[in-house]
Amino acid sequence: MDKHVGIYIHIPFCASKCAYCNFYSLAGADKLIPAYNSAVIKHIGEYSAQLDGYLIDTVYFGGGTPSHYGAGRLASIFNALKKHGHVLLDSEVTVEINPGGITKEDLIKLRHAGFNRLSIGVQSTNDTMLKSLGRTHTFSDAQDTVNNARSAGFDNISVDIIYGLPSQDKDSWAETIAKTTALKAEHISCYGLKIERGTQLYVFKDSPFLPDDDAQADMYLYAVEMLAGFGYKQYEVSNFARRGFESKHNMKYWLGDEYIGFGPGAHSYVGHCRYSFIEDIEQYIERVNMGQVVVEYSEEMSDFENAGEYLMLRLRTIHGISEDEYYHIYRLKMDFVLELLRKYEANGWALFKDGRWRFTPKGFMLSNTLIGEVLDAQTRQRTQISKPWQTTLGREDAQMTLFDRKPVAAELFGGRKLVGRIDT
Ligand code: SF4
Repeated sequence: MDKHVGIYIHIPFCASKCAYCNFYSLAGADKLIPAYNSAVIKHIGEYSAQLDGYLIDTVYFGGGTPSHYGAGRLASIFNALKKHGHVLLDSEVTVEINPGGITKEDLIKLRHAGFNRLSIGVQSTNDTMLKSLGRTHTFSDAQDTVNNARSAGFDNISVDIIYGLPSQDKDSWAETIAKTTALKAEHISCYGLKIERGTQLYVFKDSPFLPDDDAQADMYLYAVEMLAGFGYKQYEVSNFARRGFESKHNMKYWLGDEYIGFGPGAHSYVGHCRYSFIEDIEQYIERVNMGQVVVEYSEEMSDFENAGEYLMLRLRTIHGISEDEYYHIYRLKMDFVLELLRKYEANGWALFKDGRWRFTPKGFMLSNTLIGEVLDAQTRQRTQISKPWQTTLGREDAQMTLFDRKPVAAELFGGRKLVGRIDT
């Protein structure tokens, strides 16, 4: 058994709903917590045969607010995972917590249970802005939580912050960066505020108090520069870490590795199949207890879709993409994509180094648009080459024939393996 997998556990409970939140999370549903805990543990037990084929090297408890759920219950789920799966001793085990929402005693309990990484939702260092987001903590709570976590033995801490907040200007963002780096966390995630339909903030989507796109872009580039100065290297569009503290679990998502999720709305990717569970906690509990199907959506990924994911996900990281690697795994050419990347290079949005293409910080800032264009280019190339009158029949690399080949494990950087295709 040499296959590794990451496990995601969704804890959908929150003390209250934040004004910008569009995650599947529930405030005022705490009465469901005991039944939910039993259902997740039962569900993990039912997966023991599937888990048996894997070594678990990352576990991530996200939400929602796992710290609102209670250390004892989090530990009970982790224990179920240890019982029914092969959790490696040196696994990265992360739990999301909210400042002020967890006691020092609970942090000690979590550390003793084997949790070794915290992701703390600081969001802002400005108390007025925290209030406008509907957060119930202050920055002083965040400082206390980091101190408590350190004394509980956590030496791998990540903090989340958000830019583009109502009334935020460059100076207040600079203050947020300075105060956040002073927390001395090992990892910082830095997200731009998105005003999503269905959230409380949506009515303010056209408000002049919200920084416009140019102001948000300035804040992003400022963060990249300042965080680098403080020793946080950017390794993904929104993620920065001190050397060796990149999130191993999240890297699985970006590198196309396998992961299995539990809980309502949780997503999984195993054996070229993507699936997700029903996004309704009561239905989830009931169906697990009745032994019924909880999968709401599933999709067998085609080779071409997997190749698209390679481009889409890896371009979000500093590892970027490589023409040779892409061909080795998918037996596909990427001439149209390369043409586009050369244009991006001329604009200062991409760079080519050591055989790999990756985005610059300016490119990361535009990554949603640029990746969309890259995927269009990949589709155009496929469409053109799939037309027989434009294909050189008999050529070894003729792309028409490349979708009927058998999967093999392909070595990638870091000694990892991905499933690719070779000639039969
Ligand atoms: S704590 Fe997180 S998951 Fe819960 S409502 Fe706020 S943003 Fe959403």
